Amino acid sequence: MTDDEAMAIALNEGQKALGHGDVPVGAVVLVDGHVVASRHNERERNGDPTAHAELLALQDAAVARRDWRLTDATLVVTLEPCPMCAGAAVAARIRRLVFGAPDPKAGACGSLYNLCADPRLNHEVSVTAGVQRDQVADLLSSFFAAQRAK
Ligand SMILES: [Zn+2]
Repeated sequence: MTDDEAMAIALNEGQKALGHGDVPVGAVVLVDGHVVASRHNERERNGDPTAHAELLALQDAAVARRDWRLTDATLVVTLEPCPMCAGAAVAARIRRLVFGAPDPKAGACGSLYNLCADPRLNHEVSVTAGVQRDQVADLLSSFFAAQRAK
């Protein structure tokens, strides 16, 4: 599966968050080119500040793999992960992170911090940024425009 194909799945997953008023962010975890977990942001739905798409997808992937170490996994997420989710990606020891749009206000994979490539941490994650960046930005900006119109 190409990064573009995986991002299309993450975008589709992110749109599901619109059904419960959450910011449309989607994440998938791939192992050997297969989707082992696919989740979207559920912060508003669950009233849980930690219910970000990436965290939920990593938890599902660990259950599916019966191992918290996701060393052969790729995390594909529409928006650049925040410090919590980048920290979780490092903690899970994932091999690769792919994201769509940068997040200048919270991004921790190159924008504000770079937790995925900090030699002080015990694991580094290879990062590919900007996959379907425009599609991700369109989805987010249409959500925030609709929120402002309310
Ligand atoms: Zn996050």
